[in-house]
Amino acid sequence: MRLDGKVAIVTGAASGIGKRIAEVYAENGAAVAIADINLDAANATAKELVDKGAKAIGVAMDVTDEAAVDSGVDDVVKQLGSVDILVSNAGIQIVNPIDKFSYADWKKLMAIHVDGAFLTTRACLRQMYARGKGGAIIYMGSVHSKLASPLKAPYVTAKHGLVGLARVVAKEGAAHGVRANVICPGFVRTPLVEKQIPEQAKEFGISEEDVVKTIMLKDTVDGEFTTVDDVAAAALFFAGFETNALTGQSLIVSHGWCME
Ligand code: NAD
Repeated sequence: MRLDGKVAIVTGAASGIGKRIAEVYAENGAAVAIADINLDAANATAKELVDKGAKAIGVAMDVTDEAAVDSGVDDVVKQLGSVDILVSNAGIQIVNPIDKFSYADWKKLMAIHVDGAFLTTRACLRQMYARGKGGAIIYMGSVHSKLASPLKAPYVTAKHGLVGLARVVAKEGAAHGVRANVICPGFVRTPLVEKQIPEQAKEFGISEEDVVKTIMLKDTVDGEFTTVDDVAAAALFFAGFETNALTGQSLIVSHGWCME
């Protein structure tokens, strides 16, 4: 599945899963916009790709900021010529039991995951519809798009919500050749997860090793973490699949943690 001639915007691509997706897209011929709230890190990632011969740019984008998203997407189209693929990936995690969750933290998490997905989708759909050449929109869901875990109320709510958004985009986008799908990874050792291990150990009063064994990987078929490569392979598949046969779907990539 090559992406030659395509332009991809990957949000949150300065780190972790998004960064690996950007690298794999670039390796497969796409021009890539590394859109991140952390512009220095986005530029550094773009430079790594350019040094390897790819076409890539860093773009400052807080996905919760309507004006920044609209101008960031415009900027990508000006610099790279179009937008064919959006990976709405930027995300954070905040863990707390619901009775201790601050409203501010709830709103912060929902804004990045849900408002960010809406704003980036809207800006990219406008470009894709105007150009008339279709496109692929990929949401970074989670096993938590399908299952719940304690301490993760807004995250589970937001990730379930992305499945609904993808289905609406699939229905509205079909006439324009725009497909929308969700990737649902299990635990991947990125900075987002590294931060949760000590937090959960404290909350549950167990060791960090036990957080990994008895919580994070307990229900996998083999006790293994999912990797950024696994998720990037799924993202390449969704980006490269050219017809509406594959739209409105979610693909769980979790070492069998969740099977449905
Ligand atoms: P990460 O912390 O390594 O990377 C997240 C990136 O998002 C960072 O570069 C950060 O600067 C950026 N970001 C944060 N807020 C932003 C904002 N407002 N606007 C733009 N960029 C912003 O995390 P990751 O583990 O790579 O997570 C990426 C996505 O994958 C998230 O949506 C996360 O929920 C999802 N996910 C992660 C895992 C996992 O186990 N790591 C599992 C399932 C789903």
